[in-house]
Amino acid sequence: MAQLSDIQIKYIKGIGPMRAEVLRDDAKVESVEDLITLFPYKYVDRSHIYTVRELRGDSPYVQLLGRFITIGTAGSERQQRLVAQFTDGTGTVEIVWFKGLKWVSEQINTTDEFLLFGKPAAFGGRLNIAHPEVEKATDQRAAGGTLQPLYNTSERMKRCGLNSKALHNAIRAALTHIGPTGILETLPASLLQQCALMTRGEAIRQTHQPTNTPTLQRARFRLKFEELFYIQLKILRSRNANRSQTRGLVFASSGAMLDDFYKNHLPFSPTDAQKRVVREIFTDMRSGRQMNRLLQGDVGSGKTLVALMAMLIAVGNGHQACIMAPTEILAQQHFENLRQMLGAMPITVELLTGSTKKRQRNTLLPALADGKIDILVGTHALLEPTVQFRSLALAVVDEQHLFGVAQRARLWAKAAIAPHILVMTATPIPRTLAMTVYGDLDVSIIDQMPPGRKPVRTEHYYHSSRNSLNRFIRAELQKGRQAYIVYPLIEESERSDFKDLTEGFEYTKRSFPEYTVAMVHGRMKPAEKEAAMQQFVSGEARILVATTVIEVGVNVPNASVMVIESAERFGLSQLHQLRGRVGRGADQSYCVLMTSLKIADETRRRMEIMVRTTDGFEIAEADLKMRGPGNIDGTQQSGLPFALRIADLARDAELVKYTRETALQLLATDPLLQKEENQIFVRRMAQLDKEQADWSKIS
Ligand code: ADP
Ligand code: MG
Repeated sequence: MAQLSDIQIKYIKGIGPMRAEVLRDDAKVESVEDLITLFPYKYVDRSHIYTVRELRGDSPYVQLLGRFITIGTAGSERQQRLVAQFTDGTGTVEIVWFKGLKWVSEQINTTDEFLLFGKPAAFGGRLNIAHPEVEKATDQRAAGGTLQPLYNTSERMKRCGLNSKALHNAIRAALTHIGPTGILETLPASLLQQCALMTRGEAIRQTHQPTNTPTLQRARFRLKFEELFYIQLKILRSRNANRSQTRGLVFASSGAMLDDFYKNHLPFSPTDAQKRVVREIFTDMRSGRQMNRLLQGDVGSGKTLVALMAMLIAVGNGHQACIMAPTEILAQQHFENLRQMLGAMPITVELLTGSTKKRQRNTLLPALADGKIDILVGTHALLEPTVQFRSLALAVVDEQHLFGVAQRARLWAKAAIAPHILVMTATPIPRTLAMTVYGDLDVSIIDQMPPGRKPVRTEHYYHSSRNSLNRFIRAELQKGRQAYIVYPLIEESERSDFKDLTEGFEYTKRSFPEYTVAMVHGRMKPAEKEAAMQQFVSGEARILVATTVIEVGVNVPNASVMVIESAERFGLSQLHQLRGRVGRGADQSYCVLMTSLKIADETRRRMEIMVRTTDGFEIAEADLKMRGPGNIDGTQQSGLPFALRIADLARDAELVKYTRETALQLLATDPLLQKEENQIFVRRMAQLDKEQADWSKIS
């Protein structure tokens, strides 16, 4: 039998060569397979029939059952319209058509019973319905089902007669053409049974011609399952393939260093989440495979301690470790923080950044190559080829979204056996994306805050309340606290932004003459920046006016106020990151979002989410949802191995998890899918690869 992907749609009844071309250009539909997998974006329930008496000007789409009493034309020669009176015995409503008058007047009459479907509107105090769908009541029953699918169509498709209804008819024609057994199964019977899935053929039919809501739901579930399952299978199989090729250093024990640290030097007791993640890391390290792990934990959840414990395992086993930060300030902080936490332990920690002096480098680099340095902290300067370790066993990358995948790979070159890699990020990646786009990394999550933290209280202020804001800041400063005031400087070169920042700085100094105010921004020389930051870290400066350079990692537990100016210009994740700079001590902290009074609805919703929750994952999910399905940004979308036609990463989060588990189960017994009974998966993936490649060539 011919493959459905080889049958062209121009042969389908109701399509033909011209419409086929439009469908190819506007809906990426070329073959019958493409056509029948063009899924409705929603369904309207036509099981409920309204009465005319119930109608209001603001009623939703309604369905009416009744008869036309009169049918006639009105208006001028050039602007003729068809006007009919329709009744169901409870009242009369006017129905109007402005287009296609001839065709409509052939469809309707005053003798038969009709079903109308449309949106009522009040016009000059009277109700009417313009351009409803009209069907003889008997046709409707014959068509079966009361859930009507609606399809997305472009303007061009509508102009050539391919509206939602016509598309539906064409798909029905295609399904009839294919026949009851024409749609091939893409999942083995065992899996259908295990997961209680409908067959592919039935599921596709049901999505286009649903019998009832529960069956439709099962059909959509089956199709979404299939899409997400194959994405997981693809990602996880290639991960298995990589693993079987990449050897890793094996650490038989967690080593004396970690032991010593744990018994004698712990500054506080780790949370259960921190302990669990360290165990996950250690399990990787003793497995014989190279670790590639993504550690997600909200700002302030204590990722640094986990990184330190992992590095101690490496050092205790006679190797070296490094930790890379995205900025000098953060590298410096890590360096001091690690030195302090390690206290008197016999471990050598050094710092290497772009501003490390040549003389220092000249002693540091040979010591590193000799193995005299145990832990090297730094910025991307660590990636330079001159930086050679004696035996690098673990590289920790903090805040990886600023580093990038290519740079991650450069770490591999630094040791004969690729070092274990731990990527840490506080940028909450929605779980579903983490599993689909970043699915080649194993994921650990710190989902618990250190004890005693109070969630940051967030408020949304308008510029007009600046005086009361200043009073509030002053009250906090008088209690001994510190405050951040952040201005957007998205492009560090933007002149008007820069003006806002410097004016804000002057204004703040004038408003708080009794306190020292510092300022940092990206245009300052590293040394100046450092000095200003230091002023704030030491507590000498009580207010820091800054750009988003402070976004990542900076830790000043005494700061209790974060004011974000022009908050409307920041995305949700960025707002969340900024807010994470406060709330690090035991005191109640506050975040104030400043916007102008007139803001877009979407912006207002963003502010409301920030006010309502401090859960980074919830915010990330909300971010994903607000961007809407199919609106995930380019890199993430292109990060998916196969395009999604029916599943939605934001809404089908649970199913992403379920399909991942199912795929893992399958691969547990056949990691590279080599068994005969699993060839059905391999063939399907090859086909999906091919479809993906074909489309990326065209679009
Ligand atoms: P992040 O995950 O944002 O990198 P940090 O590692 O900087 O968080 O930790 C934030 C703050 O919480 C630091 O001041 C750190 O010392 C403290 N901290 C980390 N873990 C714990 C813990 N288990 N108990 C108490 N305080 C902790
Ligand atoms: Mg951190």
